[in-house]
Formats: sequence, C-alpha cells, structure tokens
Amino acid sequence: MAATRSIELRTSVPGPRSQEILARKREAVAVPLGAIFPIVAAEGHGATLTDVDGNTFIDFTGGVGCLNVGHSHPRVVAAAREQLERFSHTDYTIVPYEPYVELAERLVQRTPIAGPKKAAFFNAGTEAVENAVKFARAYTKRPAVIAFEGGFHGRTLLSLSLTSKTHPYKAGLGPFAPEVYRVPFAQDYRGPDVRTALAALERTLVTQVAAETVAAIVIEPVQGEGGFVVAPPEFMSGVRRVCDDNGIVLVVDEVQTGFGRTGKLFAIEHYDVEPDLITVAKSIAAGLPLSGVLGRAEIMDAPGLNAVGGTYVGNPVAQAAAIAVLEVIDDEGLLERAAAIGETMRTRMLEWQARFAEIGDVRGLGAMLAIELVHDRESKDPAPELVAAVCDEALRDGLLLMSAGIYSNVIRVLVPLTIVDGELDEALEVWERALERVLSA
Ligand code: PLP
Repeated sequence: MAATRSIELRTSVPGPRSQEILARKREAVAVPLGAIFPIVAAEGHGATLTDVDGNTFIDFTGGVGCLNVGHSHPRVVAAAREQLERFSHTDYTIVPYEPYVELAERLVQRTPIAGPKKAAFFNAGTEAVENAVKFARAYTKRPAVIAFEGGFHGRTLLSLSLTSKTHPYKAGLGPFAPEVYRVPFAQDYRGPDVRTALAALERTLVTQVAAETVAAIVIEPVQGEGGFVVAPPEFMSGVRRVCDDNGIVLVVDEVQTGFGRTGKLFAIEHYDVEPDLITVAKSIAAGLPLSGVLGRAEIMDAPGLNAVGGTYVGNPVAQAAAIAVLEVIDDEGLLERAAAIGETMRTRMLEWQARFAEIGDVRGLGAMLAIELVHDRESKDPAPELVAAVCDEALRDGLLLMSAGIYSNVIRVLVPLTIVDGELDEALEVWERALERVLSA
C-alpha cells in the first residue's frame, strides 16, 4: 500500500501564528501547564491534527490515548451535539438521566468480570482511581493500598501518592496520602523477573503492611506513563492470587489501556485474571471528560448513599459521546484494527531494532507499542535526549510522537485506531527518517 499524503506543512514548524499564541500563553497561563509541542491546535479529523498555521500532522499521541476512535468522529460529534442541544447538566445525583444508565448497562455487560456488576462515572482518570479506592475501602473496611513502581494513576492527592515518578509529578508536592505502599513491577526488559517481584509483594505484607489492613492493590496491565511495560501473565496471576489469599480488592487501572487500544476492549482480557474493579477514562468518550469505575456489584454498592459523587460526575454530553464510541468500536471493527496496526508497527519496529544500536527494546500489546532508547544495549543506560531529538525531527516532518517511561527514554504510540493503512505507512516513514538522522546505524 502506497503512503498517503496526509501530512501537509505550509510553514516551518512552529509557524508564526502558533508562536504568537504561545507567546501569549507564556504571559497568561501558569508555567506548570507546559506544552510538549510548540504548535497550537486548530482542528483534528481522524488521525490528523491541523494547527493554526494550516500545517497538518499525523497524530501518534491521540491526546495521550483519548482518541482511539480518532479526532472528531462524525458519529461522536453528532451524538454529543444532539445531547448538548437537549441539556448539558443537571447533576446526576440531583436529577438523573438516561445516558448515564444506558452507558452503565452497556459497559457492565462487557466488563470481563463474572456475576453482578455495576458502574459509576466521574470526570478524569484520577477521580476514577480515587473512587475505586473508596469503593475498596468501604467494602473491606481497611485503609491501605498497594501500588507499583513505574505506575501512573493521576495527579490528585491519593492518585498522585499512588503514582511512581518523582520528576516532574511528585517532587516538591508532598506530603502524600498515608497508607500507600509500593512494590516492584515485574518486567522482561529491566527486571525484576516475576518470581522476584511477587516475592517482594509477599515480603511487603510481612515487613511493611499487614495483609488484613490492605483494601486494594492497584495495577495497570500495561504501564502507560511508565513506558508501556506489559505485565507478564504470571505476574498478573500472582497478584490476583495474593489478593484472593488476603481478601484484597484487585483494581485494574485501564485508563490508558482501555477501549480497544490493545486489541481487546479491556487489556485485562489478554490475561487469565478477573479483576474486582476496573477504572476507565481517556478514550471512553473520545476526549470529552469522562471516567468510570466498573466492577463487582457488592463492592460498588459498599459506600453509604451519596458517599461518592460530585457536581459534574457523568456528564450527559460526554456519556452520549461514550455510547457512540462503543458503537464505532464495534461497527468499524476497531479491536481487530488495533491488532492489525500493532502487527504492522511491531514488524517495522523490530526492523529498526535490527538496524539501530540504540533501540534497546520493542514492546507493547496490540496497538499500544513503544521503543526504548538506550546508549548501550549492555548497560541499558537510558537515552532520553535521543528520544527528544527523534520526536523533534518527526515533528518538523509532520508526525506527532511523544515519550514515556520513568527515564523518559521511551517513544510510545497512541495513534487513533481509525488511521488508514496509507497514513500509517506515511507516518512510519517519517519516524524512520527521524531515527536515521538521530541514531547510529
Ligand atoms: N491512570 C492511568 C493508567 C493513566 O494513564 C492516567 C493518565 O495518564 C490516569 C490514571 C489519570 O488520568 P487523568 O489524567 O484523566 O486524571
């Protein structure tokens, strides 16, 4: 399949209009709200994003994994518009509405957990995580939570306490929430292996926190911000076993992995493990703010009446969009498409790894794929400056690529799953040229 010509650059990047708005941003917007790309968005369609200078890029960031169905999918736009024209807000806990109930019905029906299930909706991923812990605490009547090294669960107090990257997320922002304990995450590339990681978890229950005081273990099936580290199957099963042995609620955080990214609706479906609760957000509503907790009814029903909620929880416009997202995923076969995109990219990435000494690892699940750059394959010394240089070269040629990883030395792909083959080819060619310019063959 020949590459398309979706990328169109009319000015150098960044163009003058973007620069002008970014100069205003510097004056009016707080410094911590940085921007990875020096361009300003004007409109997005499918897998492309056009900036205010009329430059069109292929977007491999998908708004950090929010756009599995692509930018401005017509069915999502129509559903959101129709709801917006009817009403945009009541506060669900004051006057409820049908889109909330319908989305709950559709999602619990597809949640990979046996028995009665329920849903609750919020706004951001961080709220889903915080509330999942509330459900688990109310159900178990225990305080503690265990999370993993390299994990990312959000930026509000409890979720930031669960998050495991000091710079830029945590440094200087403590004190953090109490009763959070951290253990290693098993991984193939940098270790520890499954046995060592599970032994550390078991030891933590002896040395740091009594098992009977642990409400939940919170885990990502594929660590997103942590660098697309895929939990080995035996690790996930081992964590489930520790939960079962000790009456601990297993919370699987699918905020980044969910809604088809890995080739299944939920990444945990790749494992022989049933979670108790699943947190969702990002691609659930194609970029409109919506998150949720899905899980066992007895856990979801545990907090007292009105013990969870919030003014904006489960916005009806976002929920109408989410119902359309589910329909698009099914009608356009996006789960199969994610697997196919993953195959194409993995093949290409492995070719790159054979060519370029600095590509230490190629990993991921379905279309959630990444390459890790190192100075030396033996020492695995992280190479974040090479990642920055590759992303920079790609940007100048019209491809939006972004980093991940505790050392920021991973380039990850969160491309819309609606990307057509020609565009995917075009993007991979740009990426390859960027690698050729920066890395040593
Ligand atoms: N959990 C995971 C796995 C995430 O990747 C993220 C965000 O990247 C969050 C939680 C937090 O979501 P939000 O940024 O919507 O609060």
